[in-house]
Amino acid sequence: MKWIDYVNPNTLDEAVGLLKQHGGTARPLAGGTDLIVLLRVNPERINNPELIVDIKGIPEFNELSYSPSAGLTLGAAVPCYRIYQNEAVAKAYPGLIDAAALIGGIQIQGRASIGGNLCNSTPSADSIPALIAHNVTCNIIGPSGTRQVAVEDFCTGPSRNVLQPDEMLVSLYFPPPNKNFGARYIRFIPRNEMDIAVAGAGVSVVLSNGNFDSVRVALASVAPTPLLVTDIGDALSGQPVNESSINEAGRLAKEAASPIDDMRGTVEYRKHLCDVLTRRALTAAVTRAQGGTVDAH
Ligand SMILES: Cc1cc2nc3c(=O)[nH]c(=O)nc-3n(C[C@H](O)[C@H](O)[C@H](O)COP(=O)(O)OP(=O)(O)OC[C@H]3O[C@@H](n4cnc5c(N)ncnc54)[C@H](O)[C@@H]3O)c2cc1C
Repeated sequence: MKWIDYVNPNTLDEAVGLLKQHGGTARPLAGGTDLIVLLRVNPERINNPELIVDIKGIPEFNELSYSPSAGLTLGAAVPCYRIYQNEAVAKAYPGLIDAAALIGGIQIQGRASIGGNLCNSTPSADSIPALIAHNVTCNIIGPSGTRQVAVEDFCTGPSRNVLQPDEMLVSLYFPPPNKNFGARYIRFIPRNEMDIAVAGAGVSVVLSNGNFDSVRVALASVAPTPLLVTDIGDALSGQPVNESSINEAGRLAKEAASPIDDMRGTVEYRKHLCDVLTRRALTAAVTRAQGGTVDAH
């Protein structure tokens, strides 16, 4: 069994210093629901770390601040339950809540963070399409300072992302929601919970006088990274909200997907799911934008 050191710094500066000092051999720990499992079953995937840097005690990673004019800053280690228990955040960012409330089960949600879900960077991660739909910006820190990356550019391949070994994700910034805004994340799994998405769709809309003003659609589990389908936003902008435009969105999602065959689904099955899930998520996002409610899952 390999010896691994553990530290729990109190400040951001300390954490940055530790990662700089230990380079690729140190690994941040948020909720640990991915990291602890990987340390046991597949440490090679995370470069056999020698030092675990627990970031949960650092204030910047625990920030959860929202106002209708400033938007939402979500610290990278905030666990899911704190997000969906916040009524103002739940109302403003419904797609985020859809994802936070279905990751794992209630015990996992007590620990798992959206930041950890993003940094783990699997194509099937449930929060990432919702983050893309909500037009999120990632705030990253490293020894040379801070930088911002649009969330759709964060993942670079399966379990890979733009972070350098000495960088950390500090927080996620959600812009204030527009008037007539709605969002939805749904996924398909063969059972009700505790499974990996065969496919997933995160959607947001802004409506204006019965038309789509803007639309963002992102898909899970159908490409090497979570996939923003820009063709849908381009095609639907200015179009009426009706069955024909929603069907067109589904068709474009199916066309954009480039999934693999595996034990959970074939290429054809996953492409079909992209069509169905996009149409359903889009319809639900429209309902929300019009002030209606949709079933939780
Ligand atoms: C039983 C079970 C069920 C699950 N169900 C789902 C599910 O339904 N949907 C789903 O998407 N996932 C699921 N997961 C996976 C996991 O719970 C999520 O990915 C979770 O959101 C990860 O967050 P965390 O805080 O636990 O991250 P951690 O495990 O702490 O970290 C994950 C990775 O990100 C890195 N990291 C963490 N924070 C930072 C940071 N701030 N900066 C840089 N790197 C960082 C870590 O080093 C590690 O490599 C499940 C896991 C389990 C065990």
